Amino acid sequence: MSFAFSIEKQIASLVHPSVLPRQAERLRHETFILRRLASSVTVMCLAPLFLAIYGAPVVWHALVFVWCIVPIGAVLFLSRSGDLLLAQAICIVSFVGAATTIAAGGGPWEAALVWLVLAPFEGVLSQNFRLVLSAGVLSALAALGLTIADRNGIIHTGFATGHAPLLVLPAIIYATLAAHGLVSFQIGREKSARLRTDHYRAVYDTLDDLIIHQDRNGVAEFISPNCLAFCGLPAADLMGRGLFEHIHVADRPAFLKAISDAAAGPHTIAATLRLRALTGQGKAAQEPSFRWVELRARRFAIDSEETNARPDRVVSILRDITQFKQREQAYETARATAEEANAWKDKFLANVSHELRTPLNAIIGFSEILADQDLSPQETAKQREYAAIIQKSGQHLLAVVNSILDMSKIQSGAFDLRPEPFALPPLIDLSCDMVKLKATEGGVELVRAYPEKIDDIVGDKRAYKQILLNLLSNAIKFTPRGGRVTVKLRPDGNHIVVSVADTGIGIAPNDLVNLGCPFFQAGASYDRPYEGTGLGLSVVRGLVGLHGGTIAIESELNQGTCVSVRLPLDCRRLPASKTGTAKIETLPRRSRSDDPRLFSNEMMVKKIA
Ligand code: ADP
Repeated sequence: MSFAFSIEKQIASLVHPSVLPRQAERLRHETFILRRLASSVTVMCLAPLFLAIYGAPVVWHALVFVWCIVPIGAVLFLSRSGDLLLAQAICIVSFVGAATTIAAGGGPWEAALVWLVLAPFEGVLSQNFRLVLSAGVLSALAALGLTIADRNGIIHTGFATGHAPLLVLPAIIYATLAAHGLVSFQIGREKSARLRTDHYRAVYDTLDDLIIHQDRNGVAEFISPNCLAFCGLPAADLMGRGLFEHIHVADRPAFLKAISDAAAGPHTIAATLRLRALTGQGKAAQEPSFRWVELRARRFAIDSEETNARPDRVVSILRDITQFKQREQAYETARATAEEANAWKDKFLANVSHELRTPLNAIIGFSEILADQDLSPQETAKQREYAAIIQKSGQHLLAVVNSILDMSKIQSGAFDLRPEPFALPPLIDLSCDMVKLKATEGGVELVRAYPEKIDDIVGDKRAYKQILLNLLSNAIKFTPRGGRVTVKLRPDGNHIVVSVADTGIGIAPNDLVNLGCPFFQAGASYDRPYEGTGLGLSVVRGLVGLHGGTIAIESELNQGTCVSVRLPLDCRRLPASKTGTAKIETLPRRSRSDDPRLFSNEMMVKKIA
């Protein structure tokens, strides 16, 4: 096996470089070189045996030997020039020369005549009619020449009849015509093969799809010329194992299975794969990216006898379905968003009707009692109590409606952010003043601390106030009597961090993840005595998102909660979240940094309530 391979390599190295790209031509050259070398080398190897049997050679022996090794010269000439026609012409001359020498020297003339008959076939390989005819004419002339020379006593051939070479003329003519037919048959076959190739090339050129021929292991042997247009890669990159290596790692098993299934049966096998391609115009702009392709593979058995193609070859058609996939993904995303929006709308309606009905029931119920002469309490204190309930329920209703309006504006992208420069400490003071009464009523100490010098920030002042009020009222609401709520301000590079920490009831770890979702309220068992709509944190999240900020919530049950809002110093410089939702990071409570005793000396600390 390895000997045959090394012979093949040696022969290939003798082929003229100009012929290498043309496969059919290269094959012809290789065949010529192999056969001529084989016959000449055999003669050279038999020479010692000849000497051993017949002793010292006579002149014609030596001449025949020379004619027999002339093809080696023809091979060298072919290897140097690439001219197969002339190399074959040399061999035909050596054929006729050897035959004439044998006959003229008085050797076995029957053998000489056989060589003359065979000479026209030597021209078949070159597929040249003129060479075949010339070989026939040369053989015929040699036969004639031998006859005439023999009859005139110039040479002594030993022909029994003296006309033997003449009688061989019909055989030479027949051999010439047979060789001529062989050449025309070969030319016709090559022409039809070329036509078929042209036909396939035209089909390949018309299609936008990529055509690949491969073996059952997926090794690509042919790639249609539109490879560069198809995936931005030259066909050479996908040849051999290149195709497999350009397929997404996760899709490689599916690719191999599709190819081996196609090779094993008569059916077309389809698979969807990702192919690494180069996209963009120009070398610099080209970036590798994966394109979705649909592969349809089928066993390749077209003209397998003619082309010697083994039956386990597979032809695959790759179609770019990236746009289709993108549309499919966009459709899926749109469907998921629509479903989510629908679910959110259902939840919203259920929550809103619940939130509206509860205070409305109170308003209607107590106002009915007050309006009815029989039911209305006589004591003024009781009447005041009922009126207070109605007023409180009305305020709650207003808060719910306001939060809903804010939320819907943020969600629909209609919240109009009006950035302006302002100082944050006075706004904190104002917000603290607004919730002071609640803190005092609830027995909660309200502390605020910020550095003495702090730059103005640029943001929507109304939104900042809303954020502060929502966080402060939550902290006060969920902190029992005797507890403390601390508002802290801290610069952080291009940002400012506002944190509202309390020593209240805290939030259970499994509730932390849902904070910021509309209408979410942490476990009823520990916070239900508290009023609320479940919209305060969602509004904070939306407003912080519109400013391009983030939220961190640290909490632990019965230890307290710290909500830190990180906002840019100038919200105009940062891209705001279009949907108006900020990222919320939730953590278990780590340290009690809200304790005023731990504040640094640069902090101005004020106890408000
Ligand atoms: P609510 O109107 O119910 O306060 P929010 O959206 O402001 O609605 O808050 C959602 C839920 O998060 C609250 O119901 C509460 O369970 C929990 N929560 C928010 N802030 C705190 C806090 N400082 N301490 C404990 N729980 C809190």
